[in-house]
Amino acid sequence: MGGIRVSFEFFPPKSEEMERNLWEAVARLAPLSPNFVSVTYGAGGSTRERTHSTVRRILNDTALTPAAHLTCVAATRTEIDEVIRSYWDAGVRHIVALRGDPTGGVGDKYAPHPGGYGTSADLVAGIKRAGDIEVSVSAYPEKHPDSADVESDIDMLKRKIDAGATRAITQFFFENDLYFRYLDRVRARGIEIPIVPGILPVQNFKQTTNFAQRCGASVPRWLAERFDGLDEDVATRKLIAAAVAAEQALDLVKRGVTDFHFYTMNRADLVYAVCHLLGLRPTAKKAA
Ligand code: FAD
Repeated sequence: MGGIRVSFEFFPPKSEEMERNLWEAVARLAPLSPNFVSVTYGAGGSTRERTHSTVRRILNDTALTPAAHLTCVAATRTEIDEVIRSYWDAGVRHIVALRGDPTGGVGDKYAPHPGGYGTSADLVAGIKRAGDIEVSVSAYPEKHPDSADVESDIDMLKRKIDAGATRAITQFFFENDLYFRYLDRVRARGIEIPIVPGILPVQNFKQTTNFAQRCGASVPRWLAERFDGLDEDVATRKLIAAAVAAEQALDLVKRGVTDFHFYTMNRADLVYAVCHLLGLRPTAKKAA
């Protein structure tokens, strides 16, 4: 198995303990030489400072290439442009551009901030105006909950690409057929950029189910059955989670996928194991 490329997503930590978890995970995963590592931007820009300082530390203390997530929510264009400029000044050359969720939370109707970027495509255009910055965006194999149907979702993807995005990272999914069906529809619309599957190793099944419900991802019955009865059995749960994620990733490889984005939840062990199965081995060069 060769030519596999991975990226890892982290979230900015809120406490000292979370901070320790994050940097332990970064140190463990860094030697696998990811294509890039991304850092999320909290709902409503709530982690602006923490995202920035995490990205800055990745730049200063590791050999990794960071990508900073950025959303349009609750900020004027001037404020967002300021964030983009500060990333640029710090040496960040890759941004994951998103609309973001409504300030009232998922399920509320989204309204752009007056004076803000109206859509994720407008944000992509704003970032591209700011400098030679690589822009990745989201994609939804099961459609975004706000979208009427998959085709209008793909319309938005197309607008983001027309504005300058060169990679899409998908929402997590558990049925690979969903991804390939979506890919067929995207390619049929003439979209050629990489649509990188987002893989979520299931650290906690209950939490994953709640999260999936909010973002419109389906949780198949077979997955629930695999975790059935394991709520109090952390060790077995972990083994099952590794097996599920490995099975999914290996099937994707068998069907031609070479790039993967892992939602790490700031934990390295499952992701490291799956990457090992994908043939990735530590290299000294990129150690944190
Ligand atoms: P878009 O791609 O802009 O839109 C998604 C779909 O919704 C499109 O089909 C579009 O047509 C439709 N739509 C958009 N606006 C409207 C509207 N006003 N009315 C009707 N339909 C509409 N969230 C964070 O807060 N921080 C993060 O760091 C973050 N990182 C993410 C990374 C990835 C890879 C993914 C997949 C998601 C991430 N999210 C993050 C979640 C994301 O912000 C939410 O899913 C949000 O609701 C949509 O943002 P988007 O840029 O994906 O949407």
